[in-house]
Amino acid sequence: MALIVQKFGGSSVADAASIERVAKRIVQTKRKGNDVAVVVSAMGDTTDDLIDQAYSIDSNPPAREMDMLMTAGERISMSLLAMAIHAAGEHAHSFTGSQAGFMTDARFGAAHIKSVKPRRVRKVLDEGCIAIVAGFQGVNADGDYTTLGRGGSDTSAVALAVALGADVCEIYTDVDGIFTADPRIVPTARRIPVIPYEAILEMASCGSKVLALRCVEYAQRFNMPLHVRSSFSSRMGTLVLPEGVAPGSLPNL
Ligand code: ASP
Ligand code: MG
Repeated sequence: MALIVQKFGGSSVADAASIERVAKRIVQTKRKGNDVAVVVSAMGDTTDDLIDQAYSIDSNPPAREMDMLMTAGERISMSLLAMAIHAAGEHAHSFTGSQAGFMTDARFGAAHIKSVKPRRVRKVLDEGCIAIVAGFQGVNADGDYTTLGRGGSDTSAVALAVALGADVCEIYTDVDGIFTADPRIVPTARRIPVIPYEAILEMASCGSKVLALRCVEYAQRFNMPLHVRSSFSSRMGTLVLPEGVAPGSLPNL
């Protein structure tokens, strides 16, 4: 049985219908016999909207309160997604970053992960449940909530995958993987089937639009295979692999 971490970004969970669609996909992966832990971002433009609201009230909002506010976005999507999975007939349990054991330093708005101890996540997985974890957030040594910087859920997903010893970290987005150029702008852009970490880190122009660079660095450091794919199709996307790992050895292709 494989352990798969799936990360869904804001565009994949933008409204109730999308959340139901994503839930079905997660349930499918579970019913194929895998353990599934999910990391989710805030719905659609929620994070931007929260920032706008903050600045409409205070032009210089305290960093601690900003992070308290921003972590709310992922709490909405994680609990709704757990409900949608429940409605689709499987057990799911959602966790904030803090509940999932994401300890960070104290840099509000740009915190770094210091350790991940996903004891409670592991427990519900062992009980046959799907775990849903709020991306982009953790807790510092004072017990205050922190965020990892914009786009930080990718890094949360890789960090969770590493801490759980997952077989693959699947990053779901709205395109079929990483392309030689942005396929929405350049029609002749080609999907890259397999790519090493180093090459993505060098591809500042297209690779980094799809994946946060910190997430790739984290994956490279711990040799965690990534599969960047579309939440709208079941096609294979782009595999980002450590040297020597055969693409066919990954689960859920
Ligand atoms: N919701 C956060 C953001 O919009 C984190 C993420 O999407 O990865 O930056
Ligand atoms: Mg977002």
